[in-house]
Amino acid sequence: MKNVPRLLDGVAIASAIKAEVALEVKELAGKGVVPGLAVILVGHVPASEIYVRSKVKTCGELGIYSEMLTPPESITTDEMLALVAELNARPEIDGILIQLPLPKHVDTKRLLEAVSPDKDVDGFHPVNAGRLQAGQPGLAPCTPAGIIEILKRSNLPIAGQNAVVVGRSDIVGKPAAMMLLNASATVTVCHSKTRDLPKITREADLLVAAIGRAGFVTPEMVKPGATLIDVGINRVTDAAEVKEFFDSDPAREATFAKRGSVVVGDIHPKAFEIAGAYTPVPGGVGALTIAMLMHNTVKAAKLRRGIAMEK
Ligand code: NDP
Repeated sequence: MKNVPRLLDGVAIASAIKAEVALEVKELAGKGVVPGLAVILVGHVPASEIYVRSKVKTCGELGIYSEMLTPPESITTDEMLALVAELNARPEIDGILIQLPLPKHVDTKRLLEAVSPDKDVDGFHPVNAGRLQAGQPGLAPCTPAGIIEILKRSNLPIAGQNAVVVGRSDIVGKPAAMMLLNASATVTVCHSKTRDLPKITREADLLVAAIGRAGFVTPEMVKPGATLIDVGINRVTDAAEVKEFFDSDPAREATFAKRGSVVVGDIHPKAFEIAGAYTPVPGGVGALTIAMLMHNTVKAAKLRRGIAMEK
């Protein structure tokens, strides 16, 4: 019998989270609190501009105050540090987001560490990484937090599962592994120096791919029936490659004809066919990131004022 894998709809889950955030914002309004997010976008990076516009628009939809600061490409690290210090001090700002990547001459690490941990809605500050590890309340990185939401809201088990995370970045792989461990999975973290990766990934009940290489995880690397979480966002511009990934999928072919590229995850689409459940790309993990940013902004507003969280 043909396997019918379960598609985990990130867009629907993100909508549910946003609706909950909007309700929390309403409740806070009753207490005279309007959560506020400041986004710093340096210079002109077209992809970053699209992300930032989308973040600001979502704030508006949910009743969160937002402001966008757009310093020029030529801004120095010291000037950026002064900007962050100003935002740290402003009481109506609950979240500060520095859109990455920054120009090469700006010291990204210093800046991320300058954001007050209590306003660090991206969850990148070492203090928040430490809080995550210690299981203390804090602000967790949005993309891995989105993965956990997808699993929990889809009633997929985490406790006791063999979870394999491929990728160990500070933004995705490491915090995803920590969150899975906190949820009682047995976690293995793999990276570019891992020996015999397919042997390890084939043991995974729950496989998270955060690598940045289109279709890297092939069907041979997957245990039939596993849950596949695909974090990768890779733009493929080669027609032959698109055909290899999607056979002759008319929808993808139409996208390719229109845009000259299609987005492919880190997991080969053919691997999804043998999965128990999987997140599609697009429309899977990526859809959750902004919803989790909104969640974190409201969480920051509550934590700073000592208001209890819903959950
Ligand atoms: P990084 O480049 O920071 O990390 C990639 C990781 O993959 C590294 O740990 C690297 O290992 C590992 N890796 C690379 N090649 C191999 C290999 N051949 N075998 C095993 N491991 C390998 O990427 P990010 O974590 O920032 O992002 C990963 C993907 O997720 C990207 O496609 C990105 O676009 C996407 N992404 C999506 C988001 C969203 O959905 N909103 C948000 C953030 C990222 P090593 O450490 O040894 O170099």
